[in-house]
Amino acid sequence: NKQVLLRDYVSGSAKESDMIVTSSTTKLKLPEGSKGVLVKNLYLSCDPYMRGRMRKSNLSSYVDAFKPGSVSPHTSTYSFICLPPNDFDLKTLQPITGYGVAKVLDSGDPNFKEGDLIWGITGWEEYSVINATRTHFKIHHTDVPLSYYTGILGMPGMTAYVGFYEICSPKKGEYVFISAAAGAVGQLVGQFAKLAGCYVVGSAGSKEKVDLLKNKFGFDEAFNYKEEPDLDAALKRYFPEGIDIYFENVGGKMLDAVIQNIRDHARIALCGMISQYNHEQTEGVHNLMTLVWKRARMEGFLVFEHYHLYPKFLEFLLPNIKEGKIVYVEDVAEGLENAPAALVGLFAGRNVGKQVVVVSHE
Ligand code: NDP
Repeated sequence: NKQVLLRDYVSGSAKESDMIVTSSTTKLKLPEGSKGVLVKNLYLSCDPYMRGRMRKSNLSSYVDAFKPGSVSPHTSTYSFICLPPNDFDLKTLQPITGYGVAKVLDSGDPNFKEGDLIWGITGWEEYSVINATRTHFKIHHTDVPLSYYTGILGMPGMTAYVGFYEICSPKKGEYVFISAAAGAVGQLVGQFAKLAGCYVVGSAGSKEKVDLLKNKFGFDEAFNYKEEPDLDAALKRYFPEGIDIYFENVGGKMLDAVIQNIRDHARIALCGMISQYNHEQTEGVHNLMTLVWKRARMEGFLVFEHYHLYPKFLEFLLPNIKEGKIVYVEDVAEGLENAPAALVGLFAGRNVGKQVVVVSHE
């Protein structure tokens, strides 16, 4: 069983060498009387929030830190031992955990049986024993790529759906701006906004991504924020009448510039602030008082509090995918050994679309 482990807590920018890939030849099996589910991991999701879990003092995050070598509440792999690298304690060795798609090999949980496909939190390893929770979903629709359940049909898709429809309450003709727009969440928010009849502009960090936004995802306009010395001026150029909805993925200077350009009763969905995740302290926003005189709403949300909407979401999205009305771009890394580079690549914008890692195709 090959595994990806966190070497030690990370401060500053996360690096590939903060993780280590180990392997053992020990056969994994369900412990006697276990209520767990033994799975073979197929696809793993690289998500920006995972950076917060690499930090020792994790007070600002909404999920527990990975403890190098400790037991995660979601997966337990007590039943096998893998060869430890020198600086790890054999008894407590545990992989990084994250969202993934997996196939059930054996189950002590009455809700799952051998052959089922599921998505939810699993280990960054070839095989895991999962203690299934309410946020592990059985996959019923397999006529779409299975990897989609790490993205468009999984947590990032739900994030785009909840953040846009529930938090932003879009109306036809409104002006919508999305940052990190070519990523797992942003590309969908833009397409949802077009379906809702809005005018949509996205920002991203390369020409390739800007082209994708305009030519593949149907954004009305897009720009490379790295080539804009004055973000306020750029936004004024694209939104001469101001912004009704901002879907916030990056934070920092971009948020401040957006606030300067909002219209009365604007809504800002605070989805994430990736520009801040490698910093020990969040950088300040200067223009917050504008929210008062514009009577604007800025609201944070956590996707996992909205998973009860998943059936409604599938009902909406599956026909749109099958009819080609919503498209999805993935950036696929092959092999567990490439997972650390794929994860840290998110913070340098190396991914074009949803970053997926293939552990096994079947
Ligand atoms: P992406 O697929 O968009 O990948 C991250 C992208 O962020 C990179 O490709 C890069 O694109 C951009 N980026 C990285 N560093 C910076 C920076 N310093 N400044 C500006 N942009 C940067 O990730 P996701 O779509 O999965 O996530 C998008 C956001 O949504 C994140 O903030 C994430 O934390 C948040 N999120 C929140 C959830 C919730 O429940 N609230 C759930 C899921 C995600 P580029 O080339 O454009 O710079």
